[in-house]
Amino acid sequence: MSLTVPADMHTHQPGQGEYFLLSVNGNTAAKYCSREFHPWHLPEKFVPLTDEFLEELKSCSALGEIGLDRLRGPDLMIQRRYLDVLLEAAQHFSLPVVIHNVRCESEILSALRGFPNAVLFHGFRGGGKALEKLLDAGYFVSFSEISNVSMAAYLKANGLHNTGIESDYTGISITDIAAGISRCLDIDVTYNSINTFKRFLAI
Ligand SMILES: [Zn+2]
Repeated sequence: MSLTVPADMHTHQPGQGEYFLLSVNGNTAAKYCSREFHPWHLPEKFVPLTDEFLEELKSCSALGEIGLDRLRGPDLMIQRRYLDVLLEAAQHFSLPVVIHNVRCESEILSALRGFPNAVLFHGFRGGGKALEKLLDAGYFVSFSEISNVSMAAYLKANGLHNTGIESDYTGISITDIAAGISRCLDIDVTYNSINTFKRFLAI
């Protein structure tokens, strides 16, 4: 097993090593943080983004997680309105975005049309075809496990380019997550995870 700590594309707790992108709701001392505006916690009515929020974005490495969730959060129309203004803000500050998607892929892809910065679809659990579609569109994708055989088959056949790994809310260390995925794919994902992390954040 590798002694290098893998990079964590998306976590809610400070991680190990140098490369983890901490999703936060306010200020943090973490080197790389992403300011979240989680669809679960949106108000029932749209309220424009505040100057304070926009000010906070200046010290962040990314915006997210943001996105759409068909099963949780307010009405999708409200979620979409937020997503649109958040993408505008990310574009204004030249920030990459971390996307939360639950059964809203086509709506999210339509919101992202013309968005010029890097995009990460986090928590991916779909099959090989869905993965191929996102990667072919130039997006980054991260996951904390290989959740089905078609996803495994795609990665084994096509390699790990633009894919990363994440601990999210699992409570499992990124080292253990990397070990599980590496075992499953029979490839050490550590170095690729760091590569993807650096390219996503352009560091
Ligand atoms: Zn998360």
